[in-house]
Amino acid sequence: MPPRGAALLTDPLLNKGTAFTERERDALGLRGLLPPRIFTLEEQASRSLAAVHRKPDALEKYIYLTNLQNRNEVLFYRVVMDHIEEMVPLIYTPTVGQACLEYGAIYRRPRGLFLTLRDKGRIAEVLRHWPVQGIRLIVVTDGERILGLGDLGALGMGIPVGKLSLYTACAGVHPSYTLPITIDVGTDNQDLLDGPVYIGLRQKRARGEEYDAFIEEFVEAVATVFPKALLQWEDFGNTNAFRLLGAYQQRLPSFNDDIQGTAAVALAGVMAALRVTGGTLADQKLLFLGAGEAGTGIADLYVAAATSAGMGEAEARARCWFVDSKGLVVQSRTDLAHHKLPYAHAHEYLPSLAEAVAALKPTALIGVSGMPQTFTQPIVEQMASLNQRPIVFALSNPTSKAECTAEQAYAWSDGRAIFASGSPFAEVEFKGRRHVPGQGNNIYIFPGVGLGVLASESREVTDAMFLAAARTLADMVDPADLDLGRVYPALTRIREVSLRIATAVAANAHDSGLARASRPEDLAQDIRARMFEPVYREYA
Ligand code: NAD
Repeated sequence: MPPRGAALLTDPLLNKGTAFTERERDALGLRGLLPPRIFTLEEQASRSLAAVHRKPDALEKYIYLTNLQNRNEVLFYRVVMDHIEEMVPLIYTPTVGQACLEYGAIYRRPRGLFLTLRDKGRIAEVLRHWPVQGIRLIVVTDGERILGLGDLGALGMGIPVGKLSLYTACAGVHPSYTLPITIDVGTDNQDLLDGPVYIGLRQKRARGEEYDAFIEEFVEAVATVFPKALLQWEDFGNTNAFRLLGAYQQRLPSFNDDIQGTAAVALAGVMAALRVTGGTLADQKLLFLGAGEAGTGIADLYVAAATSAGMGEAEARARCWFVDSKGLVVQSRTDLAHHKLPYAHAHEYLPSLAEAVAALKPTALIGVSGMPQTFTQPIVEQMASLNQRPIVFALSNPTSKAECTAEQAYAWSDGRAIFASGSPFAEVEFKGRRHVPGQGNNIYIFPGVGLGVLASESREVTDAMFLAAARTLADMVDPADLDLGRVYPALTRIREVSLRIATAVAANAHDSGLARASRPEDLAQDIRARMFEPVYREYA
């Protein structure tokens, strides 16, 4: 029995607020509980948008939108989807970073599940406390590396909540399928531990065996309680991120967006840029600044792409070079973390990026270091002297961390750089020409990949699926966008992008024998029909 009366008004998935009709008010025991005037969804949406606009700053807008989501999900998604370019920065980066920092202070009601070390031995039981059955999509963080903000412990909950909202807004995954989880194993952030409003466990992070055993129990519990769920690892510190991905990616459908989603969006940008430069993937030389989750993830996917096109793996790896905080990653170094080793080539050690550019002559420079202003004028000028159309991606977030600005990239390359960034930059007028920087936002990739995995009930999420997603995204960039230097489609096309990616991913799952669902006659049509649309149902 669906709830009636006041209980109906507090269920965000069913509530229509002032849009309940006269008939519904009679049938559902709502008379008197609502003001008399009946509004349409469109009228409610424009009123909510006006309320967002009245809020004085981004954090206040975030708080308003979160409350709206907790009250009426259809209305929330109507507003978000109809104003996607304005809303994404409010419900996700950069505002979500600030919201996480203040999560303790702005915390009002629970959204998502907190699992803590105290739940050891009974994680499955705690998962069963979630009021909705049949969860299909979980985003989980342990809060150790929230965006560029570091260890925020339990405050990281804003990230899985925000990511799952994007799944619904951008790919139509039904909100009732989604579950945000924060695993609280403590925090090493002393300011939080000492502060008065921190909401998490007040202890240092568990590590080593204790941590691994907890994660193992968690994964087992997810597989038992929600056997059809896709598990997305999000914002784990990089010592755990690579290990967990390796340990679990074949045990249940799971992926890490920071590694694999970033890889696909960046590779798609490179593929689209090649439509301008006329080059092929095989003749690129990529130089990365930063050898963490993002950088090595992108290189790994480049290698997968190049080898699927016939290149040998060693040769493909030899086309990817890294400079990390200590200099060029080369064989003679003894301080390299495991994930960097495949890219430690036999070459003289060079201490700086400028020397590496001069010696290696890359076709593309990709910044994933979190270090602002490291693509200096001489470095960009050097890239422009080596390449007719140098690819310069400054992917570090937020905007203040970008390796260079859009304006600098265009000015220092005499308008020839093909530039993309992690955070948005305004378009630039240079020597009478309009340049529109592309934003390599992961939301072009993960919602579509997730939707495709859900639709096909794939047993695994593979690199081949991310490659299919990257190719699909690169193909969707219009020639008109490329003329302006923009290597990603407009965000307003995100539902179409996600549907196309989901279709490619599901097709891959069926072709590779990983799908558990039977293959529908028309994959795209089948997926489209299941996408959540923010419209009200009629109750009476
Ligand atoms: P990470 O912590 O795993 O890796 C950071 C890497 O940068 C490490 O290898 C570190 O050694 C290196 N580094 C630090 N200081 C350096 C310096 N001065 N010079 C050279 N290298 C230096 O982080 P990550 O997940 O790889 O993310 C890195 C950056 O990429 C972040 O700023 C993040 O915002 C950005 N990112 C962007 C996107 C996107 O655009 N879609 C997606 C994910 C991450």
